[in-house]
Amino acid sequence: MTETYPLVHERSLPSSLERLRELAYNLWWSWHEEAQGLYRQLDPLLWEDVGHKPIAFLRRVSADKLTAATERIAYTAQYNRVLRAFDSYMGEENTWFATTYPELKDQHIAYFSTEFGLHESLPLYAGGLGVLSGDHTKEASDLGLPFVGVGLLYHKGYFTQKINAEGWQEETYEDFDPDDQPIHRVPGPDGNPLRITLELGELTITSDVWKVQVGRAPLYLLDTELESSNPELTQDVPRLYGGSRLTRLLQEILLGVGGVRVLRSLGLDPQVWHINEGHCAFLTLELIRERMAEGESFEDACEQVRERVAFTTHTPVSAGFDMFDLDLVARYLAPMREEMGISQKQLLDLGRHNPGWGEHFSMAHLALRLSALHNGVSKLHGVVSRQLFHHEWPDRPVDQVPIFHITNGIHVQTWIAPEIAGLFDEYIGRDWVNYLDDPHIWEAVDAIPEDALWETHQKLKQDLIWFLSHQIQRRWEAGEITPPHLVWSGTLFGREVLTIGFARRFATYKRATLLFRDLGRLKGLVNDRERPVQFVFAGKAHPQDEGGKALIQEICRHALDPELGGRIAFLENYDIAVARYLVRGVDVWLNNPRRPREASGTSGQKASLNGIPNLSILDGWWAEGYNGRNGWAIGSGIEYDSEEEQDQRDADELYRVLEEEVIPLYYERDDEGLPRQWLSRMREAIKTAGAYFTTRRMVKEYVERLYTPILQRQAGARDATPIGD
Ligand SMILES: *Cc1c(COP(=O)(O)O)cnc(C)c1O
Repeated sequence: MTETYPLVHERSLPSSLERLRELAYNLWWSWHEEAQGLYRQLDPLLWEDVGHKPIAFLRRVSADKLTAATERIAYTAQYNRVLRAFDSYMGEENTWFATTYPELKDQHIAYFSTEFGLHESLPLYAGGLGVLSGDHTKEASDLGLPFVGVGLLYHKGYFTQKINAEGWQEETYEDFDPDDQPIHRVPGPDGNPLRITLELGELTITSDVWKVQVGRAPLYLLDTELESSNPELTQDVPRLYGGSRLTRLLQEILLGVGGVRVLRSLGLDPQVWHINEGHCAFLTLELIRERMAEGESFEDACEQVRERVAFTTHTPVSAGFDMFDLDLVARYLAPMREEMGISQKQLLDLGRHNPGWGEHFSMAHLALRLSALHNGVSKLHGVVSRQLFHHEWPDRPVDQVPIFHITNGIHVQTWIAPEIAGLFDEYIGRDWVNYLDDPHIWEAVDAIPEDALWETHQKLKQDLIWFLSHQIQRRWEAGEITPPHLVWSGTLFGREVLTIGFARRFATYKRATLLFRDLGRLKGLVNDRERPVQFVFAGKAHPQDEGGKALIQEICRHALDPELGGRIAFLENYDIAVARYLVRGVDVWLNNPRRPREASGTSGQKASLNGIPNLSILDGWWAEGYNGRNGWAIGSGIEYDSEEEQDQRDADELYRVLEEEVIPLYYERDDEGLPRQWLSRMREAIKTAGAYFTTRRMVKEYVERLYTPILQRQAGARDATPIGD
């Protein structure tokens, strides 16, 4: 867009709609469909063009459209309703946290993460880790936690994926315009914009600081578009997961060390520091430095810091740990180390780890050694983590390694289809959102009539099929695509055909192409005249992962094979918006990772909540969630020594379950045309996800098992539970 637009502050709005501006600056709208509707309805095409960004939208929407809206009774009624709900949310004093822990409500819990997936329009995330942090933050707001998030602002967030005519992934980076985003520059103590400067030996970097308001929870972001004494060295810092190891190191120092300094500049003294995945563990060094500057010894400082820190690991294999060369860390942290007056060995020992190919500085080990409480993200991942870190507690049996688990969940209001939420309103009760983690209320799902559930699902499925052709039509008109794209984009999809979705990162262990191992068998399935099946795939490969890109290409090539009948589709640019269509609109959610490599997974939980049964390897959350009635298991959870053997057996089992169970059940209809048995799986899927796999249950567990033990200890409660080991 080359036109220039007034800044949103300078834009005049009709006085009766003045608060659209204020609302746009609080991400609360991102989990309230009616609030987004206030923008979208004014000009649906513009809303699409600006990528669902309320601020960008308000800068550009025509005065006529605004004036017209002031005259529409339905619109102004919705405006008033949304703002009443917003005001009541923001003003609520009796939140769950405030009423459960009145003595702790003035403390602060700091939550650090490299990614925050809050909405598709804010490029702060790449995938699952980011969506989890985003959902965690929204839930912390809903529950009223004294929570403050810290992350990085990427000007070149994760890339936009386009597939070229050869089926090969190409990456583009969208321009980031802060004036189009719901972010504010943070003022420092002197009223000028706050800036954080870090001396890193031969390099000096300075970063601006921004704030995003997520409901009641503030999120502070360090700007990766740096002022740098060596711009060549720092050119890739604005990219999420881009560039060299040095780029990553600089990002992580900025986040960890810079993040603590931001909170200090704001006068905050959090009593809990939550490290969400090892990347942000440098925050511990800054906390140690602070204490040593006050005269503590290195050992005492480490001990005091440890008591305040909690660490969540998300990695299921040691090769996945975030590691740096020792000399890289020594070089860039030298000024900090000298200020602390510790030796190079003392510094490096904090993260020293030998994964088998030489000593490295491991961020996970730094986090583990400087935290009092540690957890994995599913029951199985807890077991795996105790094995991975057993060497840190060599004297203990592996099952007594002090790493427990809190299984991941999803933020319900973000992921539920409004149509499904409408059924809950009607049959569970209007205030079901307040009782999410009460398993009893989910029994009321049985009261939803089968025809209503089926019709609602059909509507969501048609929305997805519309979305597939709509996306491709826009790109065709723009002259951006070739005839093969038309085929592999799902334009040949049938409306009544059983539709199976697979969307995830194209990392090799996720085995996106497992389905294609026996092409003859697959062709038999998709081409069955009475009971056909179609598959939609989506997902990004890391820009440097040629293997992952080859898998995408393989799928696109198969999709062009006439013998597969146009029943294979690849949907470009998997992000939160695309995920929303998929987890609401397919009939079955497929997941076939190589167990136990999926730490938890959350996309299947989103599908399940919307009544879509999972068909999955018993890995991650599904190893806990599967109960025989809410979907299907592929295999029995056995792990094989040879990957080849594991892949072959899992593929065989996948075909068998499709042929013998999934497909027959889907097409078994009664006199009214309803698949009764299938509908009972759909109901059971909703109950499973709703009662347990939500951030409501998850964040409460974080509060009870990580945050409050630390807070109570800090508050000096004599009977506080002893923490750590
Ligand atoms: C939920 C989500 C994920 C995480 O899904 P997994 O099950 O962990 O693969 C990744 N990306 C997007 C865009 C999501 O919405």
